[in-house]
Amino acid sequence: MLIKISSIRIPEIFYRKPPRQVKIEEYMQYFNEHGCFQKPATITQRGLLTDGFINYLLACEMGMDSVECTINTEVVSRRFGKNKRIHNKDYKRRALYISQGGLCACCGKQLHLDPDGDKATYMTLDHIFPLSRGGISSMENLQGVCRKCNEEKGNQIDDDIIEYAMRTAFA
Ligand SMILES: [Zn+2]
Repeated sequence: MLIKISSIRIPEIFYRKPPRQVKIEEYMQYFNEHGCFQKPATITQRGLLTDGFINYLLACEMGMDSVECTINTEVVSRRFGKNKRIHNKDYKRRALYISQGGLCACCGKQLHLDPDGDKATYMTLDHIFPLSRGGISSMENLQGVCRKCNEEKGNQIDDDIIEYAMRTAFA
């Protein structure tokens, strides 16, 4: 299904982790050869992008006013089906897992979501701007990291996180 570019919303995390140039070139090459993207982007019923950020970027760059998307009903039902579940930690962990490609946001290690699996590679939720310093539990302030990175980070804040917090606070 074709979705208007203007009705797609991009989570902050995609901008924080821009795709590598070589990836973008791969997508571009496929598009030039086939006239379409290899697979459609994925959005929730409310238009929030969960996969296919490169499709979106290239479509914008090429001046297209719409791009092919599929609706991610699984995440939608968890996220929006019942209001009570909006703050569900498992949903957030899963959404972050998807948007980060399953990798730790700090060290890049491959992680998993199985609570009974290996503890060292289980994806934990980390507040980018720590709760103890006034950070909130919105998706924009969360990242999925491995246990080791989460423990090492503790409550410290580095300069680019302060810059990020300032930017989003006044956006
Ligand atoms: Zn890590």
